[in-house]
Amino acid sequence: MKLLVQKFGGTSVANAERIHRAARRAIKAKNDGYSVVVVVSAMGGATDDLLDLAGQINSNPPRRELDMLLTTGEQVSIALMAMAISAAGHEAISLTGGQIGLITDAVHTKARIQKIDAERIRKEHAAGKIVIVAGFQGIDETGEITTLGRGASDTTAVALAAVLGAERCEIYTDVDGVYTTDPRIVHAARKIDRISYDEMLEFASLGAGVMHSRAIEFGKKYNVDIHVRSSLTDTEGTLITKEVKQMENIVVSGVTLKTDMAQFLLQDLPDDPGVAAGVFASVAEAKVAVDDIIQTVGDSAKASISFTVEKNDLAECRLVCDKIAKQYNIKSVECVSPVSKVSIVGVGMKSHTGVALTMFKALANAKVNINAITTSEIKISCLVNPEQGEQALKAIHSAFELDD
Ligand code: ADP
Ligand code: ASP
Ligand code: MG
Repeated sequence: MKLLVQKFGGTSVANAERIHRAARRAIKAKNDGYSVVVVVSAMGGATDDLLDLAGQINSNPPRRELDMLLTTGEQVSIALMAMAISAAGHEAISLTGGQIGLITDAVHTKARIQKIDAERIRKEHAAGKIVIVAGFQGIDETGEITTLGRGASDTTAVALAAVLGAERCEIYTDVDGVYTTDPRIVHAARKIDRISYDEMLEFASLGAGVMHSRAIEFGKKYNVDIHVRSSLTDTEGTLITKEVKQMENIVVSGVTLKTDMAQFLLQDLPDDPGVAAGVFASVAEAKVAVDDIIQTVGDSAKASISFTVEKNDLAECRLVCDKIAKQYNIKSVECVSPVSKVSIVGVGMKSHTGVALTMFKALANAKVNINAITTSEIKISCLVNPEQGEQALKAIHSAFELDD
């Protein structure tokens, strides 16, 4: 039987009326002949409110307890969604991450999915029920409750679509698709009809908050078509899918701004083999994910290493850097926070020249200073001062003629 996964984000289940609307979509899919899995996020703002409450009680709450707290948000919305479907005369059952056997590693607040046991969902489908699953959560091998990182209900949804062999995964949100940049910042942003997994992966990792990047990793690995669309209208959204030839003609598909970052600078490190490995072994041990790394070697045969991390990891990373400073007997560890990163993404970049020049000229014309540059085959990123981030985004978006 054909199967569909529908995911509803926080704003799409923010009140009773919206929950009923989402329930109607699930029922329609069921009536169209699909076995339906609905993945829901916590009601809009609920996760932030819980985090705020935790902060009032303890400025550095134990991560295990944070997971225990935050997963209640999704538990509220799955129950309400199941009630809405039942009120409309259809059968539904709500299930937590633990109940569907979504097993993760034991890294609280940023756990990774290790396996999903599809049996429970199949059993409920066989009984004719719409299955409502709590996004963002799982349990580790010992039964401890874990969460997968902010925004990770997308990842639950795409991972389930992969495991269950769904026809596609529909992501219902508060915009009607993926745009060339955040449409709330640049009103002239254009909706993209189709985007490749690789581009969307860069896009999401570089700050396009519309999709959680690990969801795209699953989509790519298991070839799941992901349709991002509005929960409030019936307009076609954006299809995230395999690369198709014509995409290469578009040089830059989109522009992103990431604001929630911190940059660490370690100076006067010995310029010897094994030093970078030593530094990043300590960082990895603290489970801090590192973004861009830049190493330079000066005349004095001393090396400097700078790298960026998510602001959430700032406190932990500061402790690690102090340890590294002692280990290598260096005086200063500088930390700049916040820093912003503006990036362009496009598979067509592989085969076109002058792309970096257009970006740098746009920043120069907008009088934005570039603090660091990093590149990959399909992206170019510049670190800029946070107060100039939006200005930089608008200038680059317009320079690549992406404005509507
Ligand atoms: P949900 O709660 O449904 O998961 P999110 O807030 O996580 O919704 O994601 C939707 C938001 O992503 C939009 O409101 C928009 O402001 C933001 N966004 C950032 N970049 C983009 C982009 N390139 N295209 C569309 N939306 C974007
Ligand atoms: N409720 C979680 C969050 O706000 C997960 C999600 O919405 O995807 O981050
Ligand atoms: Mg989201």
